[in-house]
Amino acid sequence: MVTIKSKKEIDLMREACRITNLVYKEIEKVIKPGMSTLELDKFAEKIIKENGGLPAQKGYPSGVRGVPNFPATLCISINDEIIHGIPSAKKIICDGDVVSIDLVVYKDGFHGDAARTFLVGNVSDEAKKLVEVTKQAFFEGIKYAVKGNRIGDISHAIGEFVEKRGYNVVREFQGHGIGKQMHEDPGIPNYGKAGKGMRLEPGMTLAIEPMVMIGGKDIYQDEDGWTILTDDGSLSAHYENTILITEKEPEILTLV
Ligand code: MG
Repeated sequence: MVTIKSKKEIDLMREACRITNLVYKEIEKVIKPGMSTLELDKFAEKIIKENGGLPAQKGYPSGVRGVPNFPATLCISINDEIIHGIPSAKKIICDGDVVSIDLVVYKDGFHGDAARTFLVGNVSDEAKKLVEVTKQAFFEGIKYAVKGNRIGDISHAIGEFVEKRGYNVVREFQGHGIGKQMHEDPGIPNYGKAGKGMRLEPGMTLAIEPMVMIGGKDIYQDEDGWTILTDDGSLSAHYENTILITEKEPEILTLV
Protein backbone atom coordinates (compact mmCIF):
# COMPACT_ATOMS: atom_id res chain seq x y z
CA MET A 1 0.00 0.00 0.00
CA VAL A 2 1.22 3.50 -0.84
CA THR A 3 1.02 5.90 2.08
CA ILE A 4 0.87 9.67 1.87
CA LYS A 5 2.40 11.13 5.02
CA SER A 6 0.95 14.01 7.00
CA LYS A 7 3.17 16.88 8.12
CA LYS A 8 3.40 15.34 11.58
CA GLU A 9 4.40 11.96 10.16
CA ILE A 10 7.00 13.58 7.91
CA ASP A 11 8.53 15.27 10.94
CA LEU A 12 8.81 11.89 12.67
CA MET A 13 10.47 10.47 9.56
CA ARG A 14 12.91 13.36 9.51
CA GLU A 15 14.19 12.32 12.90
CA ALA A 16 14.66 8.62 11.96
CA CYS A 17 16.40 9.80 8.79
CA ARG A 18 18.62 12.26 10.68
CA ILE A 19 19.90 9.44 12.90
CA THR A 20 20.54 7.25 9.85
CA ASN A 21 22.73 9.91 8.29
CA LEU A 22 24.41 10.67 11.61
CA VAL A 23 25.59 7.06 11.80
CA TYR A 24 27.26 7.42 8.40
CA LYS A 25 28.94 10.68 9.38
CA GLU A 26 30.41 8.90 12.41
CA ILE A 27 31.38 5.76 10.45
CA GLU A 28 33.25 7.92 7.97
CA LYS A 29 35.46 9.13 10.83
CA VAL A 30 36.40 5.68 12.14
CA ILE A 31 36.32 3.16 9.28
CA LYS A 32 39.81 1.87 8.56
CA PRO A 33 41.75 -1.22 7.56
CA GLY A 34 42.00 -3.77 10.37
CA MET A 35 38.52 -3.18 11.81
CA SER A 36 36.10 -6.07 11.81
CA THR A 37 32.68 -5.51 10.33
CA LEU A 38 31.20 -6.51 13.70
CA GLU A 39 33.09 -3.64 15.37
CA LEU A 40 31.48 -1.21 12.93
CA ASP A 41 28.11 -2.80 13.60
CA LYS A 42 28.39 -2.32 17.38
CA PHE A 43 29.58 1.26 16.84
CA ALA A 44 26.50 2.03 14.73
CA GLU A 45 24.07 0.39 17.14
CA LYS A 46 25.41 2.46 20.04
CA ILE A 47 24.88 5.74 18.16
CA ILE A 48 21.33 4.76 17.18
CA LYS A 49 20.40 3.84 20.76
CA GLU A 50 21.99 7.01 22.19
CA ASN A 51 19.65 8.92 19.88
CA GLY A 52 16.56 7.01 20.98
CA GLY A 53 16.26 4.89 17.86
CA LEU A 54 16.31 1.20 17.10
CA PRO A 55 18.15 -0.73 14.38
CA ALA A 56 15.27 -1.86 12.17
CA GLN A 57 17.15 -4.48 10.17
CA LYS A 58 18.12 -6.41 13.30
CA GLY A 59 15.78 -9.38 13.53
CA TYR A 60 14.34 -8.79 10.07
CA PRO A 61 12.82 -12.09 8.93
CA SER A 62 14.52 -13.94 6.07
CA GLY A 63 11.20 -15.42 5.01
CA VAL A 64 13.06 -18.64 4.21
CA ARG A 65 12.80 -21.76 6.34
CA GLY A 66 16.14 -22.56 7.99
CA VAL A 67 17.60 -19.09 7.39
CA PRO A 68 17.76 -17.09 10.63
CA ASN A 69 16.50 -13.53 10.93
CA PHE A 70 19.06 -10.84 10.06
CA PRO A 71 21.29 -10.69 13.15
CA ALA A 72 22.82 -7.21 12.95
CA THR A 73 22.28 -3.46 12.80
CA LEU A 74 24.14 -2.88 9.52
CA CYS A 75 24.29 -4.79 6.28
CA ILE A 76 28.00 -4.61 5.36
CA SER A 77 28.92 -5.87 1.92
CA ILE A 78 32.54 -5.79 0.75
CA ASN A 79 33.86 -5.69 -2.85
CA ASP A 80 31.91 -8.31 -4.86
CA GLU A 81 29.26 -8.51 -2.14
CA ILE A 82 26.41 -6.26 -3.27
CA ILE A 83 23.95 -6.13 -0.38
CA HIS A 84 22.85 -7.91 2.83
CA GLY A 85 26.34 -8.86 4.06
CA ILE A 86 26.31 -10.02 7.70
CA PRO A 87 28.77 -8.32 10.07
CA SER A 88 31.24 -10.68 11.73
CA ALA A 89 34.23 -10.54 14.09
CA LYS A 90 36.07 -12.67 11.54
CA LYS A 91 35.48 -10.30 8.67
CA ILE A 92 38.29 -7.74 8.65
CA ILE A 93 38.20 -4.62 6.47
CA CYS A 94 41.35 -4.44 4.34
CA ASP A 95 43.23 -1.64 2.62
CA GLY A 96 41.66 -1.06 -0.79
CA ASP A 97 38.23 -2.47 0.11
CA VAL A 98 34.96 -1.13 -1.27
CA VAL A 99 32.58 -1.31 1.71
CA SER A 100 28.86 -0.88 1.08
CA ILE A 101 26.76 -0.28 4.18
CA ASP A 102 22.97 -0.24 4.39
CA LEU A 103 21.10 0.92 7.49
CA VAL A 104 17.47 1.41 8.50
CA VAL A 105 16.71 3.29 11.71
CA TYR A 106 13.33 3.09 13.45
CA LYS A 107 12.13 5.79 15.81
CA ASP A 108 8.66 6.82 17.06
CA GLY A 109 6.86 4.63 14.55
CA PHE A 110 8.79 5.57 11.41
CA HIS A 111 11.82 4.42 9.42
CA GLY A 112 14.80 6.11 7.77
CA ASP A 113 16.79 4.14 5.20
CA ALA A 114 20.09 4.98 3.51
CA ALA A 115 23.17 3.26 2.08
CA ARG A 116 26.70 4.49 1.46
CA THR A 117 29.77 2.89 -0.08
CA PHE A 118 33.05 3.69 1.65
CA LEU A 119 36.44 3.49 -0.05
CA VAL A 120 38.93 2.27 2.54
CA GLY A 121 42.63 3.07 2.23
CA ASN A 122 44.27 2.92 -1.17
CA VAL A 123 41.55 1.92 -3.59
CA SER A 124 41.81 1.41 -7.32
CA ASP A 125 40.73 4.09 -9.77
CA GLU A 126 38.08 1.74 -11.11
CA ALA A 127 36.60 1.40 -7.62
CA LYS A 128 36.53 5.19 -7.21
CA LYS A 129 34.76 5.58 -10.52
CA LEU A 130 32.21 2.88 -9.69
CA VAL A 131 31.32 4.52 -6.38
CA GLU A 132 31.01 7.94 -8.01
CA VAL A 133 28.77 6.63 -10.81
CA THR A 134 26.55 4.81 -8.28
CA LYS A 135 26.10 7.96 -6.20
CA GLN A 136 25.56 10.11 -9.27
CA ALA A 137 22.92 7.63 -10.54
CA PHE A 138 20.84 8.40 -7.44
CA PHE A 139 21.03 12.14 -8.14
CA GLU A 140 20.13 11.57 -11.79
CA GLY A 141 17.12 9.53 -10.66
CA ILE A 142 15.77 12.09 -8.24
CA LYS A 143 15.78 14.82 -10.88
CA TYR A 144 12.57 13.06 -11.95
CA ALA A 145 11.18 12.58 -8.43
CA VAL A 146 8.68 15.39 -8.75
CA LYS A 147 4.92 15.64 -8.46
CA GLY A 148 3.12 14.34 -11.55
CA ASN A 149 6.03 12.25 -12.85
CA ARG A 150 5.93 8.47 -12.67
CA ILE A 151 8.10 5.91 -10.88
CA GLY A 152 9.34 4.70 -14.28
CA ASP A 153 10.85 8.13 -14.93
CA ILE A 154 13.15 7.68 -11.94
CA SER A 155 13.96 4.05 -12.80
CA HIS A 156 14.72 4.88 -16.41
CA ALA A 157 17.03 7.77 -15.50
CA ILE A 158 19.05 5.60 -13.09
CA GLY A 159 19.36 2.63 -15.47
CA GLU A 160 20.32 4.76 -18.46
CA PHE A 161 22.93 6.69 -16.54
CA VAL A 162 24.59 3.50 -15.26
CA GLU A 163 24.44 1.50 -18.47
CA LYS A 164 25.81 4.35 -20.58
CA ARG A 165 28.93 4.16 -18.43
CA GLY A 166 29.33 0.45 -19.16
CA TYR A 167 28.12 -0.83 -15.80
CA ASN A 168 25.05 -2.85 -14.83
CA VAL A 169 22.35 -2.22 -12.25
CA VAL A 170 21.11 -5.05 -10.07
CA ARG A 171 17.67 -6.02 -11.34
CA GLU A 172 16.54 -8.45 -8.66
CA PHE A 173 16.43 -5.84 -5.88
CA GLN A 174 14.92 -2.38 -5.89
CA GLY A 175 14.04 0.76 -3.99
CA HIS A 176 10.73 1.11 -2.19
CA GLY A 177 8.25 3.26 -0.40
CA ILE A 178 9.02 3.68 3.30
CA GLY A 179 7.23 4.96 6.38
CA LYS A 180 5.64 3.02 9.23
CA GLN A 181 6.88 -0.06 7.37
CA MET A 182 10.47 -0.49 6.21
CA HIS A 183 9.22 -1.64 2.82
CA GLU A 184 6.06 -0.08 1.42
CA ASP A 185 4.71 0.31 -2.09
CA PRO A 186 5.67 1.32 -4.67
CA GLY A 187 8.70 -0.75 -5.69
CA ILE A 188 11.30 1.38 -7.48
CA PRO A 189 13.47 -0.64 -9.89
CA ASN A 190 16.82 0.76 -11.01
CA TYR A 191 15.89 0.27 -14.66
CA GLY A 192 12.69 0.64 -16.64
CA LYS A 193 10.60 2.67 -19.02
CA ALA A 194 10.00 6.38 -18.64
CA GLY A 195 6.33 7.34 -18.40
CA LYS A 196 5.31 4.02 -16.78
CA GLY A 197 4.25 3.17 -13.25
CA MET A 198 2.62 5.02 -10.42
CA ARG A 199 2.33 8.80 -10.40
CA LEU A 200 4.27 10.68 -7.74
CA GLU A 201 2.34 12.72 -5.20
CA PRO A 202 3.46 15.12 -2.47
CA GLY A 203 3.76 13.31 0.86
CA MET A 204 5.17 10.10 -0.62
CA THR A 205 8.42 9.00 1.00
CA LEU A 206 10.67 6.79 -1.09
CA ALA A 207 13.97 4.95 -0.60
CA ILE A 208 15.82 5.17 -3.91
CA GLU A 209 18.86 2.94 -4.10
CA PRO A 210 21.01 2.21 -7.13
CA MET A 211 23.02 -1.02 -6.76
CA VAL A 212 25.68 -1.10 -9.46
CA MET A 213 28.15 -3.71 -10.70
CA ILE A 214 31.20 -3.21 -12.89
CA GLY A 215 30.76 -6.62 -14.51
CA GLY A 216 27.87 -8.75 -15.77
CA LYS A 217 24.23 -8.73 -14.70
CA ASP A 218 24.26 -12.05 -12.87
CA ILE A 219 24.18 -12.31 -9.10
CA TYR A 220 23.98 -15.13 -6.56
CA GLN A 221 23.19 -15.65 -2.91
CA ASP A 222 25.74 -16.94 -0.42
CA GLU A 223 25.11 -20.08 1.61
CA ASP A 224 24.41 -17.84 4.62
CA GLY A 225 21.02 -17.16 3.04
CA TRP A 226 21.51 -13.38 3.08
CA THR A 227 24.59 -12.04 1.29
CA ILE A 228 24.08 -11.21 -2.40
CA LEU A 229 27.20 -11.22 -4.61
CA THR A 230 28.16 -10.53 -8.20
CA ASP A 231 28.43 -13.79 -10.11
CA ASP A 232 31.65 -12.84 -11.89
CA GLY A 233 33.34 -11.47 -8.76
CA SER A 234 33.31 -7.89 -10.07
CA LEU A 235 33.10 -4.94 -7.69
CA SER A 236 29.75 -3.45 -6.75
CA ALA A 237 28.53 -0.33 -4.97
CA HIS A 238 25.31 0.89 -3.35
CA TYR A 239 23.98 4.37 -2.63
CA GLU A 240 20.59 5.15 -1.13
CA ASN A 241 18.60 7.93 0.48
CA THR A 242 15.08 8.35 1.78
CA ILE A 243 13.41 11.22 -0.06
CA LEU A 244 10.16 13.15 0.26
CA ILE A 245 8.06 14.11 -2.76
CA THR A 246 6.88 17.71 -2.36
CA GLU A 247 5.04 20.34 -4.40
CA LYS A 248 8.44 21.34 -5.83
CA GLU A 249 11.86 19.65 -5.66
CA PRO A 250 12.24 16.41 -3.67
CA GLU A 251 13.77 16.67 -0.22
CA ILE A 252 16.52 14.23 0.72
CA LEU A 253 15.69 13.32 4.32
CA THR A 254 18.83 11.26 4.95
CA LEU A 255 21.27 13.98 3.93
CA VAL A 256 20.89 16.42 6.79
MG1 MG B 1 18.45 0.43 2.65
